[in-house]
Formats: sequence, structure tokens, C-alpha cells
Amino acid sequence: MCKQKFNTALIHGGIDGDSRTGAVNVPIYQTSTFKQDGLGELREGIWEYSRTGNPTRAALEALIAQLEGGEAGFAFASGMAAITAVLSLFQSNVKILLSSNVYGGTFRVLDKVFSRFNLTYSLEDTTDLAALEKEFTPNVKAIIIESPANPLLTITDIRAVAEIAHRHGALVIVDNTFMTPYLQQPLALGADIVVHSATKYLGGHSDLVAGLAVVKTRELADKLAFVQNSTGAVLGPQDAFLLIRGIKTLAVRLDRHVENAAYLADWLAGNLEVKKIYYPGLTSHIGYEINQQQAKNGGAMISFELAEGHDIRKFFKSLQLIALAESLGGVESLVCHPATMTHAAIPRETREKIGITDNLIRLSVGIEDKADLLADLKQAIEESRI
Ligand SMILES: *Cc1c(COP(=O)(O)O)cnc(C)c1O
Repeated sequence: MCKQKFNTALIHGGIDGDSRTGAVNVPIYQTSTFKQDGLGELREGIWEYSRTGNPTRAALEALIAQLEGGEAGFAFASGMAAITAVLSLFQSNVKILLSSNVYGGTFRVLDKVFSRFNLTYSLEDTTDLAALEKEFTPNVKAIIIESPANPLLTITDIRAVAEIAHRHGALVIVDNTFMTPYLQQPLALGADIVVHSATKYLGGHSDLVAGLAVVKTRELADKLAFVQNSTGAVLGPQDAFLLIRGIKTLAVRLDRHVENAAYLADWLAGNLEVKKIYYPGLTSHIGYEINQQQAKNGGAMISFELAEGHDIRKFFKSLQLIALAESLGGVESLVCHPATMTHAAIPRETREKIGITDNLIRLSVGIEDKADLLADLKQAIEESRI
């Protein structure tokens, strides 16, 4: 068959349906093991034990590999399990560079777990390329970046970072959770590995926790397959099925997510009670140009800061439609307070310095009617006036 366009691949990519029965959906193979015909005679030569491989999970893995344009995909029990498996590719005494606003869990697993095995790291400003290049000492074997990054939606030039990293023999790992392959394809921009918290937009309905990784080369695929089977934090068949189902509607969901986000961002940007707004789709956003070059649009995450004279607690209490919760990327709109929730581990002084003030609000824009979302934000801002 000829190469499918992206929106077709969302529905028919990877392994399409079930060839045995004609079922249009890949069945949930709820089994831990597979019968062998005789010693050393595996059926179809592949299925043996579901940690090593399961047909439902394999369909998801083939699908995400096709969507990201990689050699192979891997499904894990969570985004952190995917990131942990990727970090397990490295040796002790190696150093990993991290963008300074990387997801807190990625920082924590390096800082508190891998550091015990002498895998070291340092936090870098990945928007300052000249300074970044100086950090690639011979023991640096990888850099992990996110663009846009949480919560200030900082944009990193993925192509430029890949060029620098490859010049120094380091791998480029991109956490593509905020964009998904529909809006941004890091492997095509030069990255070697893409990771996802599929809990967010790929699942899309706030009903599962899952992680995915996609690698560019056969060599990396063989290594990661070995780690996945050895460490074993695999995604179960039920969740693999749910994730395949979520991915089918990725494009239509994201089109609406982004339409709503752009609408709310425009309104917030023109509101005198909003002191600052961070949205990569606004021409005023630092990194707007780079984001336009490497992604389809600004995505659907917005952060903003209320002006003085507003009580942030009252704001959160007054929201009626938009829920205060961790996570993002579901069909329902969610807000969070980075200073006390996602970024509470960072000392206040450091937080304020990098822009994560006590008045900062992060909004994951859902696919509800945008007029209702606007009305909810508007009344909550009014109610929060001191
Ligand atoms: C949520 C998230 C993770 C962690 O994923 P889990 O599925 O919660 O383990 C990693 N990276 C980013 C950018 C995230 O938003």
C-alpha cells in the first residue's frame, strides 16, 4: 500500500484491525502467555510471553512508530516508565543534559534515582545555544528537551540543538507530550528518541496512564527492546486498546483544542487584569518564530499571570466549568497552580526568578464550547478581585 497521510495513519496505521476475524479494531489480547506447539516451536514465531510482546501492545507500538516516523515504538505503563527505560540505555559516569524547565518527574528520577548509579545530569538553558554548546563535554551522551516546556511554554530550537549534540556525539531525546506527532515530529527535526506521556493528548480522555517511546535507528530499537523486556514496565493490553482508540481522534480533537486555545489566548492577551500571558501561538511569545518553523501551531496549553489586586485562591474557587487538577491534554479543560502543584519542589526564590510566580495559572484548554470557557474564565477573574 502507498504511504498513508497522517490523518489516515491515525485510523489505519500500524496494524489495522484483526486479519483473523475481520474485526475492524485490534482485539484486546488479555493473556499473559501463549501456547507453544513443541519445544522451540513458537506460533507465528513471535508471541511467547506478554512482558516480551503482546499483540494489542504491538499494534499500538507499530502505530506510534509510524506516526512519529521512527524505526520502532515501545509502550510503557506510564510516561515516567518510558523515560526511565530510555535513561536505562546509558552507563554510569555518563552525563545527561536537561533543559532547565524539563518535566519535574524527569528531573526527579535523574536527581534521586539514577544519580545513585552515577548517571549524572545538569540543567541547562536550551534557548541559549552558544552557552549550551560549551556544556557538551566528552562524558555528555545525551540531551533531553521539551518544546514547548512546562509551564512557561518555552520554545527550544530542536533542529539546532540536534546539530550541536550530534557534533559532540550525544543523542537527542525529545519529550513530545505537549505537541504530539500531529503538531510536531522531532525525529524529522533531527532527534534520535521521542518520548510521550500518552496519559495526556494521545490518550486524550483523562482515563488512562501510559507512556510511549519511539527510536530512529534499528540499533536503538534493539537496545530499548532489551531494556523494555528486562525491566518490564510494559503497558497492559486493556490500556493499549484504550490508547489506540484515543489516538484515532487525535487530529480532530487537537484541531478543536488549538482553536479554543488561540481564542482564549487572544482574549487573555487583551485583558488588563492579566499581567502576562505565555502561549506559543501568539506573535508576542518569545520563541514564536522558532515554534512556527518546527511545529504546526502553538498547541493548546496556555499559562497566564493575574495582575496585582487579584486573589489566586478566589480565582480557582470561582471556576465552575474548568476543573482544578493535575494533568493536561484531556477533552475537558483543566487548570493548575504550578507554584504549589507541578513545580512545588523548586525553592520559591528560584521559582520567582524563572517566572513561575505565585500568581501563575496553567490552563489545559479542552474541547468544550469556547464561549462557555471564556465565560467561566471571565467570571472567575471578576470574582478574584480583592
Ligand atoms: C505528565 C508528563 C510526564 C510523565 O508522564 P506520566 O504518564 O504521568 O508518568 C512526562 N513528561 C511530560 C511533559 C508530562 O506532562
